[in-house]
Amino acid sequence: MKSARIVKPKESLEVKELETPKPKGSQVLIKVQSSGVCHSDIHLWEGGYEGIGGQFLNTTDRGVKYPLTPGHEIAGIVDSLGEEAQGFTKDEKVLVYPWIGEGLCPACRSGEENLCDKPRSLGIYMDGGYAEYVLVPSYRYLVKIDDEMDTDASATISCSALTAYGAVKNANLKPYDNVVIVGAGGLGLMAIQLAKAVTGSKIIAMDLDDEKLSAAKKNGADNTINSKKEDPIRAVMELTDNMGADAVIDFVNASKTVETDMQFLRKRAKLVLVGLFGGELKLSLVSMPTRAYRLIGSYTGTLSDMTELISLAKRGVIKPLVSNRFKLSQATEALTMLKEGKIVGRGVINP
Ligand SMILES: [Zn+2]
Ligand SMILES: [Zn+2]
Repeated sequence: MKSARIVKPKESLEVKELETPKPKGSQVLIKVQSSGVCHSDIHLWEGGYEGIGGQFLNTTDRGVKYPLTPGHEIAGIVDSLGEEAQGFTKDEKVLVYPWIGEGLCPACRSGEENLCDKPRSLGIYMDGGYAEYVLVPSYRYLVKIDDEMDTDASATISCSALTAYGAVKNANLKPYDNVVIVGAGGLGLMAIQLAKAVTGSKIIAMDLDDEKLSAAKKNGADNTINSKKEDPIRAVMELTDNMGADAVIDFVNASKTVETDMQFLRKRAKLVLVGLFGGELKLSLVSMPTRAYRLIGSYTGTLSDMTELISLAKRGVIKPLVSNRFKLSQATEALTMLKEGKIVGRGVINP
């Protein structure tokens, strides 16, 4: 089978001919039809993230090994099953849950495998979907999708939509809440759709780009703020009767955005940090208890969240947006375009 692999960080991905795996036990081999191109693939490609004081956090220190086939938003059809795999038949269309844990830690035991102490996520710690086939460790990580559902759009549910959904759930929004969604890219737009569909809160979208803000409005934002053109703190205060935001979901999560977020929080506000831009934050420690802020990190979502999302997508409540399609040989181009902000919705690779 052909796989587009990161052989060495920062170098172009190489299309390699690898032996097609044979599923054993509860494993299932999936013929990949669509694999989403995610921002975190860029970090894998670059070999790390920005940490405190400009320090670089290496992916290899977190257990990532190269060469690696990236790709964790995988939709395709069942090719073959191990002797213990059940519940699926050949050619059935499925979405793969990639946030696989080792199964025994407290997170795994409480259904939060995405937060496993020893993660084995597909496309990060194990070979993923930038390939003609992917070996899934167990049939338990497959969810059937209807034939009439678009395969490319469905693929993006397992990270893009799931991360947005996990963040909206972590914000625990109430009907009377004002929520500020920072960053109206793919994830932000999905969070706006979800917050609109499953909560009754007032949604304020914030971005630097008017085009993205007008998309935010179309997707359900009640108000928008261009933080480049107007003072974001004053704008939020005006829209919230000077009370501040009850919740902020920050899909950028850079020093600059979070420092601003901290300035428009209402007492008891939740600040949900999602983006992987990175950097550092100076905190006024006394404000944390006196204003009872809650700082929450949010990473992807659970298998049951993904199942809920498939149902929401099937009923048309959320509409994942796929804007660019690439071949395996164009993997480097796909990552470069994403890095340069040239992909408006989501890019997918069709091996
Ligand atoms: Zn992702
Ligand atoms: Zn675990």
